[in-house]
Amino acid sequence: MSTPVASTHITDAEWEVMRVVWANDRVTSKKVISVLKEKMDWTQSTIKTILGRLVEKGVLNTEQEGRKFIYTANIEEKEAVREYAEDIFNRICNKKVGNVIGNIIEDHVLSFDDIDRLEKILEMKKSFAVEEVDCNCPEGQCECHLHHH
Ligand SMILES: [Zn+2]
Repeated sequence: MSTPVASTHITDAEWEVMRVVWANDRVTSKKVISVLKEKMDWTQSTIKTILGRLVEKGVLNTEQEGRKFIYTANIEEKEAVREYAEDIFNRICNKKVGNVIGNIIEDHVLSFDDIDRLEKILEMKKSFAVEEVDCNCPEGQCECHLHHH
C-alpha cells in the first residue's frame, strides 16, 4: 500500500478485475483471465488493457517476476466499496439518505450478525441524531427549497 488513491473512478469492467486481485492478493494476467473468461467473455488482450489502465490510475501495482507480471492492489476492497457507496450518496440530497439506507436494508438478505451490528450502530447514532438533516444541494436540484418562501 503506497499512495492512497481516493476518489479514483473505477469503471464496471475494472471493478470485475479488481475483485479478482482483492480475492487473490497477487495475480498474473493469466489468473485474471481464467477467472473472468466465462463470466465476462473477454480476451487476454482485453484483460491486459484493463490491467494496464488500473496500473496507470495507480489502483494496481505491478512488478516483474521472471517472465511474468504480478499485480497487487494499491487500494483495499473495503475502502473502494466505501468510496463507491459514498459516490451514490453524493448524488442525492442529504435529507433522503436515511430513506435510501432503509430501502437498501429492506431489499437485502442479512444475517443475525449483520442485524446485531446494525442495531448497535443505530443505538450509537441516536446520541448524534438531529431534529432535521440539513439539505446540501444547490437550489433547484432538490425539492427542499420549494417549501421556503
Ligand atoms: Zn436538498
